[in-house]
Amino acid sequence: MPPTPALLRHVLHPAHAGEYATATRLAVDHLTTALGRVRGPATGLDPDRAAKPVRDVDLDAPLGCTAQALAELDRVWLDDTVWFHEPGYAAHLNCPVLIPSLVAEVLVSGVNASLDTFDQSVGGTFVERHLVDWVCERAGLGPAADGVFTSGGTQSNLQGLHLARDHVRARTGADLDRLRVLVSVDGHYSVQRSARLLGLSPDAVMAVPVDGRRRMRPDALADALSQVEAEGTVPMAVVATAGTTDHGAIDPLGAAADLAHEHGAWLHVDAAYGGGLLVSRRRRHLLDGIERADSVTVDFHKTWFQPVSCSAVLVRDRAHLRHVTAHADYLNPADGGGLTTRRPDQVDKSLQTTRRFDALKLWLTLRVMGADAVGELVDAVVDLAQAAHQRLREDDRVEVLAAPELSTLLLRPVAPGLDAAAVDALVPRVRAALWDGGEHVVAATVVDGRRWLKLTLLNPMAGVEDVMSVVEGIVAAADDLLGEKAA
Ligand SMILES: *Cc1c(COP(=O)(O)O)cnc(C)c1O
Repeated sequence: MPPTPALLRHVLHPAHAGEYATATRLAVDHLTTALGRVRGPATGLDPDRAAKPVRDVDLDAPLGCTAQALAELDRVWLDDTVWFHEPGYAAHLNCPVLIPSLVAEVLVSGVNASLDTFDQSVGGTFVERHLVDWVCERAGLGPAADGVFTSGGTQSNLQGLHLARDHVRARTGADLDRLRVLVSVDGHYSVQRSARLLGLSPDAVMAVPVDGRRRMRPDALADALSQVEAEGTVPMAVVATAGTTDHGAIDPLGAAADLAHEHGAWLHVDAAYGGGLLVSRRRRHLLDGIERADSVTVDFHKTWFQPVSCSAVLVRDRAHLRHVTAHADYLNPADGGGLTTRRPDQVDKSLQTTRRFDALKLWLTLRVMGADAVGELVDAVVDLAQAAHQRLREDDRVEVLAAPELSTLLLRPVAPGLDAAAVDALVPRVRAALWDGGEHVVAATVVDGRRWLKLTLLNPMAGVEDVMSVVEGIVAAADDLLGEKAA
C-alpha cells in the first residue's frame, strides 16, 4: 500500500506549502513565546532532573500534531534550557545569534542542499567559495588562498594540522613519531586531540610558555624549536592562537611566522575566537601577521554571532588542500565521471562528505547587515570587557587577571583571611551555586595551578551594569558559602 495523503503531507512539497508555512510559523511563535517567558539564562537544573522528562517520552507513541509536540518540548527542553541572549549568561564562547542567519537556517534546511558536490548544491558551491575568498582576503592570505567551511574550530584545527603533517612529511620524509607541534600552554585542547588522531606520538605537542599577558613568548618558542632540532625531531607545526579560549590572548603572529618558517614548520593560526576581529574596523590590527599563516581557523559561531555550526579552515596555498582529496566513483570521480572536465566539488577540500550549507548564514548576514555591522558588535563586546575590567580592578572584593585583548575576564573572590588554597576550594562552589540559582552563569578554569571564575562576554546587548550584576552574584555566593562555614 502506498503511503496515505495524510502521511505524505509531512513531506515538504509545493502541494504542502500551506502545512509547511503553518507548522513553521507555529515554531517561530512558540520560540518567541518561550523567549518572552525567559527570566534568566538558566534554571539550575541538575542532570537527573533534566533527564527525567526526556526519558518519560515514549518515542513509539507519536503525538501526530506539531502544536502538541512543541508544547511537550517546553517540558523536555525549553523551560530549562540556557539562553545566550540573557545578560546574566557569561560562561562559554556561545553567542546570541543574528536574525539574518536564522532566516538563512530556514532555507538551509528547507532546500537541504549538500555542499559536497556541485551537483547537490549548484550556486551554493559558489556562495561558499565566494565567502571563503572574501574571508581569505580579509585575512590577507594572498591570491592562492582557499578553504572550506567546517563544523567548528575543532575540525578546522584538525584539518589544518592534517595538511601540516602531510606537507612536512612530503618534504622531510620524517616518520610520524618524530613530528612535533608547538603551541602555547594556553592553546586549545583540540590541538592535542588532533595530534593523537593524526597518529603523532603522545609527546608530540610541546607547550610553549607565555608572557604576563598570556601570549606565547617568542624567545620560548625559539628555544623550543632549537630543542626539537637538537633532539633530532622535526618541527611539524607552530600553532599560534589568536584569542585563547581562557584569556582571549593573541599570540605574536608575526614572530610566530618568522620562527616557524625559519625552521621549516607550518604555521597554523587558531583564530576560532579572535577571528571576529577580521571585520572590526578598530581592532583589525590585532591580527596583523595572520596573513603569513599557512592555515587559519575561524569560528563564525563565536565572534561572528552565527548559530552553531559555522566555521572555516583557510589555507594560504590551495594546492595543500590536495592532502585531503580522495576520489570515489559514485561521488567525485577523478576523470569527471563522463563529463569533459571535473566539476567544482567542495568535497575535494573537506574532511566531511555530506555537509550543511552553513555558509548561507554568514552570506545572508553580510548581505543584510554588512561586515562593518558585525565588526561593530565584536568591538562592543571587547569594549564591554575592557570597561568591566576597569571597574573590577578597583573592586577589593575580587581579584582580576590582566586586561583582556578580547572579551574574557578571569576573577576570584577575595576576603581578609582567605588564603589562595581556600579561594581555590571556593571557586567551584561559587560556580555551582550560581548555576543552581539560574540568574548568572559563569565558567571556571585553572591558571598556573589556581582556580579562577571565567566570564566570556559575547553579548552585544549587555552593559557594564550587567557584568557587575554577575560579579555581585559571585560575591554574594562567596559570602554565603563562607558564612555557612563560619556558622
Ligand atoms: C572554541 C575554540 C576552538 C574549538 O572550536 P569548536 O567550534 O568548539 O570546535 C578551537 N580553538 C579555540 C582557541 C577556541 O576558542
